Amino acid sequence: MSLQELTADYLVVGSGAMGMAFTDVLVEESDASVVILDRHHQPGGHWNDAYPYVRLHQPSAFYGVNSKHLGSDTIDQTGWNKGLFELATNSEVCAYFDQVMQQQFLPSGRVQYFPMCEYDGDGRFHSLVSDAQFQVHAKKTVDATYMNVTVPSIRPPQYQVDDNAHCQPPNALPRVTGQYQRYVIVGAGKTGMDACLFLLKNNVSPDAITWIMPRDSWLLDRANIQPGDMFSESVGRGFALQTQAIAESETIAEIFTRVAEYGQLLRFDDEVEPTMYRCATVTKAELEQLRSIKHIVRQGRVQRIAADRIYLDGGEIATDDKTLHVDCSADGLERRPEQAVFDGNKITLQSVRTCQQVFSAAFIGHVEARYGSDEEKNSLCTPVPHPDDHIDFLRTTLATNLNAMHWAQDAELQEWLLNARLDGFTNRRNGDAQPTAEQAQMLEKIMHNTVKSVENLQRLLAQVDGA
Ligand SMILES: Cc1cc2nc3c(=O)[nH]c(=O)nc-3n(C[C@H](O)[C@H](O)[C@H](O)COP(=O)(O)OP(=O)(O)OC[C@H]3O[C@@H](n4cnc5c(N)ncnc54)[C@H](O)[C@@H]3O)c2cc1C
Repeated sequence: MSLQELTADYLVVGSGAMGMAFTDVLVEESDASVVILDRHHQPGGHWNDAYPYVRLHQPSAFYGVNSKHLGSDTIDQTGWNKGLFELATNSEVCAYFDQVMQQQFLPSGRVQYFPMCEYDGDGRFHSLVSDAQFQVHAKKTVDATYMNVTVPSIRPPQYQVDDNAHCQPPNALPRVTGQYQRYVIVGAGKTGMDACLFLLKNNVSPDAITWIMPRDSWLLDRANIQPGDMFSESVGRGFALQTQAIAESETIAEIFTRVAEYGQLLRFDDEVEPTMYRCATVTKAELEQLRSIKHIVRQGRVQRIAADRIYLDGGEIATDDKTLHVDCSADGLERRPEQAVFDGNKITLQSVRTCQQVFSAAFIGHVEARYGSDEEKNSLCTPVPHPDDHIDFLRTTLATNLNAMHWAQDAELQEWLLNARLDGFTNRRNGDAQPTAEQAQMLEKIMHNTVKSVENLQRLLAQVDGA
């Protein structure tokens, strides 16, 4: 057994999307040296474990690291994302992060990368394939694992599956299709939606699909999450209406009614009031496909899958050995307790804009490179934990807006945001093109209503959460 001593300014634990986006900004904007390690064999984190038919849920145009474009900004001409910016596949995302590592980080001479290594704490890590052990002497340790992304393929289902029942993660679907007559999709988050869409796309009849939906979800329309949003007329108008609704509504219920009316939130069934919001994003064409599935089971979570019955919190349904149960119940976006991002020699990467993890990690990298005390840095980086229930749509909107209003007071930061590729909503995609008079008017209205919406959300959420 050998112990190697390493020295660097930063030790980054985790080469998932957040660790990569943080390191990228640090390498670009400072002279710092970095040791980065991960138990995976290549960068990209959970994208290495994801189901093969997964795609980014948002356009490639503002995913990845700040310094390198992902994809070619193609507008899809066919399929259920037609008319919108392209979405990278998981293999594309992994290849991209590998290129960032091989072509940018390592040639810089300032990054040392240790794949297939497990972190043991206190600057120590060990190889998973040899007896090598490492001790890093770093000024700061960056925890790029805190968000704890869990995908179904890396853990067993959290409910009992009897030996004679068929249950697989969604990764198995391309291999088993055809062997089964029916499919039961367990879970109604984005992974469950992707599994349903995979089956429908491959001509499985909607009647052969049963969807276990413990909670209905508010959904985001991908048409509203396109790059350069604020300058695009239709998207900008929708966002302006949403902000106005949040600023003016008397009750939380009124906000949801109005925001849904304006098409800013979608739902699976107009008759069922959603109680979940986790930033799941679909197109209207995908939603139409999903709505063709009529066997929806709203009886809570699965407790046990037996050979002929599925036992749920609120009842049971029949199943059989010609049915594949697809476990889509992992918590990919866990709501983690807030931690101070900057705490002495420790940095904990978290979202500072709702559901924009790579943007957030890059932003934190910039703040680390350019600002002074932890107090000053933390004041710019209040964490915005992942949403879970429907009220979290409002909580995360409030927290995101409070951060944005703080950033707006800092001219240097505004300039950085305008040039940040990962800030899909404001960046200068079209060079220095100035907004038209109409667009500028709309932006002003959004800014005005954002201030009012913050006051209104604070008032309304105090009634739910306590002051
Ligand atoms: C199916 C799916 C689709 C998504 N689509 C989008 C999208 O379109 N847009 C978007 O913004 N977000 C999307 N997300 C959210 C996504 O989680 C983030 O974009 C991002 O990939 C999270 O990266 P991360 O670095 O936080 O986590 P991870 O990818 O989990 O990376 C953490 C890394 O740390 C490593 N690690 C953990 N503990 C240790 C240890 N002790 N020792 C060594 N290594 C360790 C892990 O191996 C892992 O590689 C999606 C998530 C899922 C599940």
